Amino acid sequence: MPSQSFTRNLSNQTASSLLTLAVSPGKVIRGCGVLQSAAVEISRWGTRPLLVVGNSTVTMAQKSLQPMLAQENLVTAVKSYGADCCEASLQGLRTAAQEHQADVVIGFGGGKALDTAKLVAHQLRLPVVTIPTSAATCAAWTALSNVYSETGAFLYDVALSNCPDLLILDYDLIQTAPQHTLVAGIGDAIAKWYEASVSSGNSQQTLIIAAVQQARVLRDILLQKSGTALKAPGGEVWQEVVDATVLLAGVIGGLGGAQCRTVAAHAVHNGLTHIPGHGSIHGEKVAYGILVQLRLEEMLQNNQLAASARQQLLKFYADIGLPRNLDDLGLGNITLKELQTAGEISLAPQSDIHRLPFKVSIENLMAAMVSTTAPTDSREVINRVSTRGMNEEVLE
Ligand SMILES: [Zn+2]
Repeated sequence: MPSQSFTRNLSNQTASSLLTLAVSPGKVIRGCGVLQSAAVEISRWGTRPLLVVGNSTVTMAQKSLQPMLAQENLVTAVKSYGADCCEASLQGLRTAAQEHQADVVIGFGGGKALDTAKLVAHQLRLPVVTIPTSAATCAAWTALSNVYSETGAFLYDVALSNCPDLLILDYDLIQTAPQHTLVAGIGDAIAKWYEASVSSGNSQQTLIIAAVQQARVLRDILLQKSGTALKAPGGEVWQEVVDATVLLAGVIGGLGGAQCRTVAAHAVHNGLTHIPGHGSIHGEKVAYGILVQLRLEEMLQNNQLAASARQQLLKFYADIGLPRNLDDLGLGNITLKELQTAGEISLAPQSDIHRLPFKVSIENLMAAMVSTTAPTDSREVINRVSTRGMNEEVLE
C-alpha cells in the first residue's frame, strides 16, 4: 500500500538523514600560531576544562597549552587517555571530569586522544574542543569515536550527537609531529574515495552525491600535492594537504553520514589491529586496506578499473612512503593463523566489508591480503570498460 511504504520511507529518512546530520564543527580556527588564541575561544565554552592528552603529548600540553589557559583564568586538569581509547580509560576520564567539575573537554593530541575526548564529552553531555597535534586522521572534525581494547584491538565505533564545538588547527603544532603521521593521514583520507564511492551505491540523494564528489576531489588533491607537500613541511602546499586530511576528509564524513561509511579498507584495518606486533598507525593500515579492497574488486568482479587504480596507488604509495604490502606494515612474518584471524575479524557479521556489492569468503580475503602488489595485465586494463561507471578513476 502506498501509505505504508511512504511511512516506511519517511521513517528511514528520519533515522538516516534528518536526525543524525552532524556536518561540521561549530567553529574552525586554523593558521600558524593560532593556539595562542585558543584560551580566549575555549573560555566561551567553559572555565574548568578537562584536557585529554596522549602519553606523548602530556608534556607539551602542560608546558604550552595549560599556562595559556591559566592566563585566561581557566582551571585545567590534564589527563592522559593511557593505553588506548578503551572502556577503562573512558571510565577513568569520566570520573576525573566529575571530580574536577569539568564544564568543557579538550582533546589535545592524535586521533586516539581526540576520539577519547569527544566520547567522554558526549557521555557527560559537555562541549568539546579538539586540537590535533598531527594530521594523521580527521578525528578532530568528525562526530565519531572508535573504541579499542587496552591492547589496541578495534572493538566498535560510536556515532556522536554532534561534531566538536570548536576545532583549532595550528599548522605550527602539526609541524612538530613526525612526517610519517601526515603520510598516514594521506592514506586515511584517500580511502574516502575508494570507500564512499562503493558504500554510497547508486544513491541519488543530494548530500550523498556531494560527499562522494568531494571524496573524488580529495583524492585528486592528495595525488597531485602530497609529494610536493612532504618535501616542504610547513609550506603552502603542505598546509593544503593538512587541510585535506584533517578538514576535507571530515567534511565528507559529515555530509555523507551513514551512507558514506567505510567499506573493506577500514574493515581490513580493524582485522589487523587484532594481530600482535601491529606497530603501524591507523592510516597506514587503512592505506594497505585500500589495496586489499581494490584487489577484491579486481579478483571477484573482474573490475579492471580497480586493477588500474591499484597500480596507480602502488606507484603513489612508493613515492610518499605508504605501505604496499604486509611486509611494509611490519607484518612480513605474520603466520597463516594470524592472517586468518585478521581476515575473520574483517569479515565479522557487523563489518563494513559487507557493503561491497559481492560476497567475500575468508579464502578470497586472505588471497587479496597477500597479493596487493601483484602485477596486472595492462592490455586488459586498456581494453575493458568500467563496471563502476566512474570514468574519472584514473588521473594520469
Ligand atoms: Zn580512518
